[in-house]
Amino acid sequence: MKTVPALWFESCPWINGKWHHSLPPIEIRNPATFEGIASVSFADEACALTAINGAVAAQKSWARTSAVERGMILKRIAGLLLERKDAFARLLSAEQGKPYEQSIGEVEYAASFFQWFGEEARRVYGRITNHPDADREFLIQHKPAGVAALITPWNFPLAQGAKKVAAALAAGCTAVWKPSELTPLIALAMAPLMREAGLPDGVIQIVPGIGSVLGPILSSHPSIRVLSLTGSSATGSSVMSAASTGIKRVSLELGGNAPFIILPDADLDFVAEQLTRLKLFVSGQVCVTANRVFAPAHLQHKITELLAQKFAAARVGDGLAATMDAGPLINQHACAKVSQLVEDAVAGGANIALENRSFERDPRLARGSFFPPTILTDVQDTMRIAREEVFGPVLPILSYTDTGEAVKRANDTPYGLAAYVYGNNLSLCRAVASSLEVGIVGVNEWRPLKAEIPFGGVKQSGIGAEGGEEGLREFLETQVISIPKPSL
Ligand code: NAD
Repeated sequence: MKTVPALWFESCPWINGKWHHSLPPIEIRNPATFEGIASVSFADEACALTAINGAVAAQKSWARTSAVERGMILKRIAGLLLERKDAFARLLSAEQGKPYEQSIGEVEYAASFFQWFGEEARRVYGRITNHPDADREFLIQHKPAGVAALITPWNFPLAQGAKKVAAALAAGCTAVWKPSELTPLIALAMAPLMREAGLPDGVIQIVPGIGSVLGPILSSHPSIRVLSLTGSSATGSSVMSAASTGIKRVSLELGGNAPFIILPDADLDFVAEQLTRLKLFVSGQVCVTANRVFAPAHLQHKITELLAQKFAAARVGDGLAATMDAGPLINQHACAKVSQLVEDAVAGGANIALENRSFERDPRLARGSFFPPTILTDVQDTMRIAREEVFGPVLPILSYTDTGEAVKRANDTPYGLAAYVYGNNLSLCRAVASSLEVGIVGVNEWRPLKAEIPFGGVKQSGIGAEGGEEGLREFLETQVISIPKPSL
C-alpha cells in the first residue's frame, strides 16, 4: 500500500510567489476511502483579482524574456516533475482516486508537455512577405496574447493543467490557473516546483476555487486576453458567453461521446484487451473514453463474452493499493449520475451482461465512491446512455449490420471529440476514420494522445487545440507591420 506523501506546499492560493490564505478551509478527501487529505483555503473574488493584477504586472518582462530562456525553464519543470514522479503520483491517486500506475502515467504525460512546449518556445516563426507596392513590405509576427486564464477539470488535474500552463508560458503569456475545486492539491504542488525551476514570481498564479465564484471574474476581467477551459460542454457554453462581452479569445476542450467501431475482420481478443484498458482507464471518467461500442451484430455475443472475462478479472479498489485496474469515481454525485443512466437503459430494454463489484469485499472502501465496471448489451441509439457522456466504467454495446450505417450512427451526436476504429483491413479502417466527425481517431490504438499532436474537438466538443505546434497558437496574436523596404 502506498501512502499519501507529506505535503511540501501550502493548501491555499499561490500569488506572486507567495501563499495567500483566503476563504475558510474545505476538506479534500480521498474518493476511495473518504479519508481527509488536506484542508484547502479557496480563493475568493478579491484574491482572484490580486492574482490577475500580479499576472498583468509580470506580463511585459516575461514576454521580453528570450524564448530560449523560457524554454529552458519549462524543460527544467519537466525534469523536476520526472524526478519527483513518485510523490506527485501518490498525491494524485489520493486526491483523484486513479490507480498509482495511471498516476505515474499522468505525471509523465504532464512532463511531456513541459518538455514539448519548452522546445517549441523557440520555434515561433514570423515571416516577411511581398507588398503590392514595390517599395514596401509586410512583416508578420506572432506575439504573446497577454494574460491567460486557465480553467481545468478534476479527471486529469495535473496533465490538463500542464498542457495549458506549458503552452501559455512558452508563448510568453503569464497565466492565472484555476484548478477544479475537487482536485486543487496537485496544482498547488506545482507552485514550488515551478519556482525552483526558475519561473519568476507572478508568471503563474494558482487560484483554487469554485467555478461559479471565480468563473465570472476570470471570464470577464478586461486584462484576461485568452480564456482556456477544459470541462463539460455546458461550462464551455457559459464561459464562452461570459467571454463574449470582452471579445476574448476562447479555447475550449469539452465533453465527448466517443464511438468505438469494431469492424468485422478485427482481432477480437486484441479488441477486448484494448477496450477494457480504455474503458477502465480513470474508471471511464475520460473525455475520450469509449462511450458507444458498435459491434457487428453477428459478433456481438462473442465480443461481449470476451469483454466480460476481462471486466470480471479487473482489480477495482483504492488507487494507492498495489496494482489496481480501476479506482473510484470522483464522488457520490458522479456515482448517482452513472447509476441513473444505467437504470434508464435497463428500463428501456438493455441488459447488464456483467458487473464487477469486487471492491465491496474491502471494508476500508465502504465510504468510497465506487461504481462497478459494467457491460451493457442491447443498447439503442435513443437511450440516454448512448446520447450523453457517461463518465463512468460502463460499456454500452450497440450492434450494427453495415459499416456505412455504423458510421452514420457514430456521427449522430452533438459531440465530436474522439473515436476508435479496430480492424485488420487498414484501407477500410482509414476510410471509416476519415468519415468520422471527430478531432482524433485511434486506429487499433486506445490512447493516441501525445504532446506532439494537436488535440481538440469539433462540434460541441470544443474550439482550438492543445499540443502540437497548434497548442502554442492559442496563446499568440498575429501582428502585421506594413513598412517601407530598406534601400541603400
Ligand atoms: P466542469 O465543466 O464541471 O468543470 C471544469 C472546470 O470549470 C472546473 O475548474 C470548474 O470549477 C470550472 N467551472 C465550472 N463552472 C464554471 C463557470 N461558470 N465559469 C468558469 N469556470 C467554471 O467539468 P468537470 O466535471 O471538472 O470535468 C469533466 C468534463 O470535462 C467532462 O465533460 C469531460 O469530457 C471534460 N473534459 C474534456 C477534456 C478534453 O480535452 N476535451 C479533457 C478532460 C475533461
